Amino acid sequence: MSSVERIVSCLDGYDPDALRVDKAREAIRSCLVPVSAVERVATRSALGRVLAEDIVPHVNVPAHDNSAMDGYAVRSADLKADAETALDEIGSALAGRPFGGAVGAGECVRVMTGAVMPAGTDAVVVQEVARIAGDSIIVPPGQKRGQNVRYAGEDLKAGMAVLRPGRALGPAELGLIASLGLAEVSVRRRLRVAFFSTGDELASVGAPLAEGQVYDSNRYTLYGMLARLGVELIDMGVVRDDPGQLEAAFRTAAANADAVVTSGGVSVGEADFVKQLMKKLGEVLFWKIAMRPGRPMAFGRIGGAFLFGLPGNPVAVMVTFYQLVREALLFLAGRTDDCALPRLTVPSAAPIRKVPGRTEFQRGVLARDARGAWSVRLTGQQGSGVLRSMSEANCFIVLEHERGPVAAGEPVQVQLFEGLV
Ligand code: AMP
Ligand code: MG
Repeated sequence: MSSVERIVSCLDGYDPDALRVDKAREAIRSCLVPVSAVERVATRSALGRVLAEDIVPHVNVPAHDNSAMDGYAVRSADLKADAETALDEIGSALAGRPFGGAVGAGECVRVMTGAVMPAGTDAVVVQEVARIAGDSIIVPPGQKRGQNVRYAGEDLKAGMAVLRPGRALGPAELGLIASLGLAEVSVRRRLRVAFFSTGDELASVGAPLAEGQVYDSNRYTLYGMLARLGVELIDMGVVRDDPGQLEAAFRTAAANADAVVTSGGVSVGEADFVKQLMKKLGEVLFWKIAMRPGRPMAFGRIGGAFLFGLPGNPVAVMVTFYQLVREALLFLAGRTDDCALPRLTVPSAAPIRKVPGRTEFQRGVLARDARGAWSVRLTGQQGSGVLRSMSEANCFIVLEHERGPVAAGEPVQVQLFEGLV
């Protein structure tokens, strides 16, 4: 028994011929080992990368108490509770240009947003409520100590980790890192993913289509899905259903990549030699997953790479990728946060056919009706070869394993494509 087989066969309820989607996800996860190499990159280049160090501020952000508004920095103890107070303006402070002196009783300093609070002051009176009367500033009653002041360390406190390893760096994180003055950060090296399509019937785009051929569209959807994950891509083209060619392709892929994603060759109707070959080259399991679309799938290890053998049907490729491969690749890339696609619950606009015993990922359109209420409806044809359904949809409708038919108005779960597909 291979080690992959040993790990997954220990899982409760593991049945390769009727594998629940959540079990398949768990089986995959239990075998994965993330990339460990780390590199230093310039802060901007870290966008979309996985952080590999604790980010701990050495300074408070902001570094000083400062004004949140344009107005007058005052000593709140000087202010009368129920009458106006006249104060002497003794100077001004701007962002980046502090007031050098100290502020005594009955005095105030003109301040702009971001200016360091002058020594002795503890509140800012906004300019809109203050009145200038000759050399005095008249402050109305009702001002509170600490008002309109941003405190040192309010955003980030020195010594406290603000970002932990394993999280993806987005625009907010780049800004946070820059706010600490860091020009470089440590990130995991990019995950390398090789992908290719298998099939004797496949023609490449740009070439004429002979009788019985189809254009290789899967490599384009795969390219798009993988590119969005920020992994390094190795496009290996189309590989014929030929033992020699397939073996060479798998060997090259495994030698150069951390993960290999293929389409076609794993379905029941496929020539057995593809499966035999995958098995011969490594530790590969063949699953029938209780899902629709996307029942057949291969998973395992070939050399140092994890193999995800997806079915050939164009919609099945996308569904199995998003439901089973995407999270696995993010985990391999070093992510430690929960990367599962979020699910929202909305009413189904119409009845949906469903039989218990498999999880279905139907293509849906989430939209608002005339009264502004959100509901989801199916796109037209749901066949696993109808790629148009993915393009017309803006979400997956997830119909759970045990669930039977859905009535109109019944709540269903959806996963939005926005930002994903
Ligand atoms: P397979 O899983 O290889 O048996 O393929 C299932 C179906 O998907 C067949 O109709 C194939 O022609 C089609 N198919 C397989 N690979 C591709 C591909 N790369 N692009 C478009 N269709 C494909
Ligand atoms: Mg095929």
